[in-house]
Amino acid sequence: MITLQGLEKEYGKTAALSQVELTIQKGEFLAILGPSGCGKTTLLRLLAGFMKPTAGTIRFGDKEVANSKQISKPENRNIGMVFQSFALWPHMTVEEHICFALKNHRFSEKRTPEEQEVRVTEVLQLVGMESFRERYPAALSGGQQQRVALARAIAPKPDILLMDEPLSALDAELRISMRKEIKQIHKKLGATIIYVTHDQGEALAMADRVLVMQHGRIEQADTPEAIYQRPETPFVATFVGKANLVEGTWNGNYFNPAGSQLRWKDNGVSEKLKQKQLFPVRPEEWQLLPAEAEGLNGEIIISQFQGTERHYVIRVGGQDYQASLPIAAPVWCEGERVTLQIRGRKTQDATEEVLLEIR
Ligand code: ATP
Repeated sequence: MITLQGLEKEYGKTAALSQVELTIQKGEFLAILGPSGCGKTTLLRLLAGFMKPTAGTIRFGDKEVANSKQISKPENRNIGMVFQSFALWPHMTVEEHICFALKNHRFSEKRTPEEQEVRVTEVLQLVGMESFRERYPAALSGGQQQRVALARAIAPKPDILLMDEPLSALDAELRISMRKEIKQIHKKLGATIIYVTHDQGEALAMADRVLVMQHGRIEQADTPEAIYQRPETPFVATFVGKANLVEGTWNGNYFNPAGSQLRWKDNGVSEKLKQKQLFPVRPEEWQLLPAEAEGLNGEIIISQFQGTERHYVIRVGGQDYQASLPIAAPVWCEGERVTLQIRGRKTQDATEEVLLEIR
């Protein structure tokens, strides 16, 4: 288990991390997600032991590995690292990369040459690079180089694997297939993986738990489903689910969108969003109906074909809402008046007695 307590990091006057409290379970796959500059890499570098925190502590199990006065160096932590730039050595073959890691990682077991050979074959098979063992990096594609970097990191069987945007240099298709492979590898290895990304798709698809950060602080740490379906803060709702934050007034379990007589029942909206008098609606949750229907009335500002779906921007009062509808749904054109309702829910007039359950 890794425990971070009161962790802070300042670079001069820049507070890169503030009041980070976190426990990471053994064998967990944790994704750290957030926009550029939110402190993801700083957190990873502190976990690796590249620098001291300004305040707070990091513990690996019972052992305190970092505080503001001293740190245990990266080589004294049983970690493996994979970076965005694969950082392969041009003069070494694929096999030599793995052998080098096996010989030089302090926590790697002592192996006879035969055992080493077996381990090299094992990890190269795991990442699907067995037939490339004699190749040099220059003769490998980007995806293959990334696999070698991964194999090199996992060969010594580290307890913790730190990954910093490892797929960002790859093309979109390869990124998707590598996601699956990294997930598979995690299952086989059982190592704790801490994976930094600014790509929400990557974080949601791979991780057991996603840590969303903004301005050096943790906004929410939860399962991918909870992060997406029950965002706790306006930032998580908009950054991860691209949610529209509808303004209005909360009265107990009901929300009255501003400028309407509607009442929407609480469907698990967080306390923080309620305090800010907001109701998050994801783009795919909207339904578009003719103008005379009951709901939020607005005008289509943008209507865009996107292959499997159509994206709309609808202006309601002074607010622009994003909607994303399946391609089979009726098409609305720019300038048309429409009514917005939430899919699968009935919006109701506040004067009605009967209120339907939403979920
Ligand atoms: P990105 O996704 O762009 O890599 P990040 O979330 O990893 O961003 P960090 O690299 O951790 O962000 O940086 C957090 C903050 O600390 C940023 O404001 C950054 O400008 C600042 N920062 C990072 N490294 C240093 C440094 N060596 N000196 C001064 N400020 C730094």
